[in-house]
Amino acid sequence: MGASFVPRLSEKRWDHHVERTLFERWQKEGIYEFKSTARDKPFIIDTPPPTTSGRWHIGAVAAYSQIDMIARSQRMLGKHVLFPIGFDRNGINVEIYVEKNSNVKMRDTPRERFIELCAEALDKLEAQIAEIMRSVGLSGDYVHKYRTDEESYRKFTQATFIELWKRGLIYETTRPNNYCHECGTTIADAEVEYEDLPSSLSYVRFKVRETGETLVIATTRPELICSCQLVIVNPTDERYTKLHGLHAILPIYGREVQIKAHPSARPDFGTGVVMICSYGDYTDVLLFRELGLTEILAAGPDGRLTSAAGPYQGLTMKEGRNRIIEDLTAQGLLEKRENIKHRTPICSRSNTPIEIIPMKEYYLKQVEFVPKLKQLATKMTFHPDTSRQILNDWINSISIDWPISRRRVYSTEIPVWFCKKCGTPLLPPPGKYYQPWKDQPPMAKCKECGFNEFAGETRTFDTWMDSSVSAMYISKYPTNSKFFKRSYPVSIRPQGKDIVRTWLHYSILRCYQLTKRAPFSHVWINGLGMDEQGQAMHKSKGNVVEPEPLLEKYGADAFRFWNASEATLGSDFRCSEMRIAGAHKFLTKLWNLSRFISSFPKPRSAKLQPSDKWILSELSLLVEKSSTGYRDFNFFIPATELRDFVWETFASHYLEMVKPRAYGQGFSTNEQRAAWYTLHTVLKTILLLLAPIMPFMPEHIWRELYSKRSIHSERLPKPAWAKTHKRYTQEIFAFNREVWKVKKDRNLALRDQIEIDVPRALAPFKEDLVKMHALVPKP
Ligand SMILES: [Zn+2]
Ligand SMILES: [Zn+2]
Repeated sequence: MGASFVPRLSEKRWDHHVERTLFERWQKEGIYEFKSTARDKPFIIDTPPPTTSGRWHIGAVAAYSQIDMIARSQRMLGKHVLFPIGFDRNGINVEIYVEKNSNVKMRDTPRERFIELCAEALDKLEAQIAEIMRSVGLSGDYVHKYRTDEESYRKFTQATFIELWKRGLIYETTRPNNYCHECGTTIADAEVEYEDLPSSLSYVRFKVRETGETLVIATTRPELICSCQLVIVNPTDERYTKLHGLHAILPIYGREVQIKAHPSARPDFGTGVVMICSYGDYTDVLLFRELGLTEILAAGPDGRLTSAAGPYQGLTMKEGRNRIIEDLTAQGLLEKRENIKHRTPICSRSNTPIEIIPMKEYYLKQVEFVPKLKQLATKMTFHPDTSRQILNDWINSISIDWPISRRRVYSTEIPVWFCKKCGTPLLPPPGKYYQPWKDQPPMAKCKECGFNEFAGETRTFDTWMDSSVSAMYISKYPTNSKFFKRSYPVSIRPQGKDIVRTWLHYSILRCYQLTKRAPFSHVWINGLGMDEQGQAMHKSKGNVVEPEPLLEKYGADAFRFWNASEATLGSDFRCSEMRIAGAHKFLTKLWNLSRFISSFPKPRSAKLQPSDKWILSELSLLVEKSSTGYRDFNFFIPATELRDFVWETFASHYLEMVKPRAYGQGFSTNEQRAAWYTLHTVLKTILLLLAPIMPFMPEHIWRELYSKRSIHSERLPKPAWAKTHKRYTQEIFAFNREVWKVKKDRNLALRDQIEIDVPRALAPFKEDLVKMHALVPKP
């Protein structure tokens, strides 16, 4: 190396602890600040407010990093970006967290006190998440952060309820629904998950009253026999045709029920004979409704058997099941038992099996909106396009309205009072935050009967009632109608595919009901974070990868570059230290070559040589491909294109070709300047293209070498260079690889001379190639 070439980047290695300094500098300079006074339509990201109810999963950190890539790339495309930092703080998750960590029971704790405990826990959890947000470099609006439990948000949720109630879209009724006794509340279908759990199928002997013969029924829920109101067989099942219209006698209880033919009986399950109970599953619910049967409730809200279960009253469902199996066995009424895997409905919050119990709840109409929802789904652009199907499948499965009330405490209160005399529900005017369980009633007289005493509603909303209107809240629907008009629908909704049936569906439903429009133009659905083997991460499996130590060890840029280059948009991605360490090698490479280039002057112009024209042709291609990825919000494309370009095309080939020229070894000053000019042009372009994905190292190099202004205030580059020389790429690659191989085979060092002729097709590059490989003509 010539003595005069000293790298301007003095540090031999990239120290990622510089990231924190840079982050603080951005905050001080306010470069991401959003000014709502600007006149243009802002690019608004309806950020998923993270649920503050536990540690932040690596998949969530990865998802937020990618949402930050949306914000950064859109800013560099010239958009005025609003990237809100919000926290979803309502709901069952935090209540369960507090019960576990403070060793209290929600139902045994005064409501005020329990709410305080939740708020304290949330503040701590939120601070942890905010810390990770900073350490991974999110460029959000930390100054105007919002929380779904703040007064203005809850007031807004309540106002939307009051409006939809007035318009007749909300009603209260009693109907069998999913009930989680662990959470003590009704939950929506969207929050029920199904797991194949080990269970046993009991073959129980019933008697046919008219003939006295034995009728065997296979059931996974023998404890529900007490609530059986009907026995069905399939009309096509010839084994049982003679039983149609006869009666079965229930074992243990001796009660008689009708035997009917009905198509919902599956001849291939068990014995083909099915008992219909209130309620084992949704088939039971439908048959009770269809046939007008009287329900007998076997399960109580406490998860225990009711008095209808006779001797088993007070036992949990599982205890009851075991006891009745013992009794049936003792009485010779159990033919056999088979171990099976049973598809069991589970509460997604508490992971416990749910029961179907009728409770009086508020419902928001959604069934009648299904055709409209399908139409709206076609109007939004999905990224990737295939993810629209997840939404369509869910919409097609909707069969009942959305139960929106919960028997919980840390959520937005339902703003209703009831007249103590006639029971009429009375709603206050919108515009205030109401807590009916403790506030004075805001009305003087019942509008129906004139009575003046009221009982406040004690229930709260399902948390999705709040988070489903986030697009309206962040576009300032409640407070700034001018801004709302120019900002809504918001630009993009990024989220995981695991909450399509909840957050995405409910947002479209609610915002449509309130605004008559879809809430966003683009929907961006990313995959889920899996472990190294591609398995879902679970505490119980011990395969959870914690993000903080990895961020500490490798820095945000490596973490983010790993995530962007790991999987294409929409696919699940694997998380492991090894993969992040792999991404870190790219940073080292980038640092080393930037440092090398930083030793050369930066001429403003130059007379380009063929090799320079070639790499700039490739650079134009890179810019085009990367921009396509950025415009489609698919960061896998720029990340992998940049990785390949930097390692291969640029570092392995071009850089080696022009090193002798850059050092001026036997070249004219003009030729040398052309190498310097091109090296800096390529580096600047790479830094700009990488900045949305890895915000720190490119920023550091940029400010050291090229500008006092932040790289994040720049625009993404345009493909400004002629692509005339891209036709040489394969030839150049092939020739260089061939020379390297021959030298290797002959145990020669790279700088050793070798007798090889430059092929005629590469004649324009002859001088660079001869110097690069120390070629000497064949004798
Ligand atoms: Zn639950
Ligand atoms: Zn009244």
